This record gives sequence, structure tokens and C-alpha cells, in this order.
Amino acid sequence: MIEVTVYVGLGANLGDVRSTLSAAYSDLQQLPGTHGHRCSPWFSSGPVDACGPDYLNAAACFETALSPQSVLAELQRIEACHGRQRPYRNAPRTLDLDLLMHGQVSMNTPDLTVPHPRLHERAFVLLPLATLAPDLFVPGRGAIRSLLPAVSGQLIEQVR
Ligand code: ADP
Ligand code: MG
Repeated sequence: MIEVTVYVGLGANLGDVRSTLSAAYSDLQQLPGTHGHRCSPWFSSGPVDACGPDYLNAAACFETALSPQSVLAELQRIEACHGRQRPYRNAPRTLDLDLLMHGQVSMNTPDLTVPHPRLHERAFVLLPLATLAPDLFVPGRGAIRSLLPAVSGQLIEQVR
């Protein structure tokens, strides 16, 4: 059984975002076949390519032997438990859980791209991730430190 470190992006901008993010992280901690969970500080930022209230974002990681597809299925199950609906692209959401990285896997299928295809463009993903894993290497993109300057113009604030 080969374990890898999985990184997950958490985001919420509808409803009680603080309690949603706390509950989502505790759901991740309870996923069977996972251990060694850690969560980044929380960050607040305005919506990108979207409208609605500000987002609360964080990144979490854990060790697991679950496949990328199994992790995605679990993330979507947790999103659904928190009332996630997808009325249109980039719609405000109670909870968004993205599979950011799965070890050093690179894959591109109709349902799942890993590393997450927009990871490197978003301060609200990179900053929490860099706080959690400052020496992370993102397959196909490079060292996380080298990705930060490109998003330094995006307004984002650490809130906890
Ligand atoms: P986004 O997070 O980009 O705003 P959604 O959460 O609505 O959009 O996800 C849309 C689709 O993206 C999902 O149905 C899923 O199949 C696909 N997807 C592809 N790669 C990933 C990934 N790494 N993490 C999460 N979803 C992904
Ligand atoms: Mg998503």
C-alpha cells in the first residue's frame, strides 16, 4: 500500500462560511483510509471571475493510499452534504473542495485534472498551500515559492 500526501483546497462564500469550513475540515479528518491531517490558516479574498460575497479559503493535507478518483468522489460527497449546488459556472457556493495535488501525480481525464488546472493562477490557493507546505513542488509548474510572485497583486488577507 503506497501512501501519498494529498492537498485539498477548501472554499466557501455562501452562508456561515466559518462553520462550513470548520465542518468540512473535520469531515476530511474523518475520511476512512486517511491520517496525518493538517490545515492551513484561513484566508479571505474577493471572488475571481465571479460575483457574490467574499470567499473564505484554506488548504488541507493528509496521507492516504486512496486513488485520485476516490479522493475526488469523497470531496464531492462532502460538498453535497453541505448543500453544494452548481446552478452555473463559478456560481457562489456553500462549499468548494478541490483536489489540488495527489503526491506527484500528473493526470488529465474528462472528470479530473491533477494538479488542479488553475492552482498556479490563484492567490487564494497558493498562499494557503505555501503556508502548509513551503517546499512543495507542483508537477508541471515548479516550486511553490516560484509561483507566488505571479499572484502577488491579488488581494487576500489571512484571517486566522
Ligand atoms: P471549480 O472548482 O473549478 O469552480 P467545480 O467545483 O464546479 O468547479 O468543479 C467542476 C468539475 O471539475 C467537477 O465536476 C470535477 O469533475 C472537475 N474537476 C477536474 N479536476 C478537478 C480537481 N482537481 N478537483 C476538483 N474537481 C475537478
Ligand atoms: Mg471545485
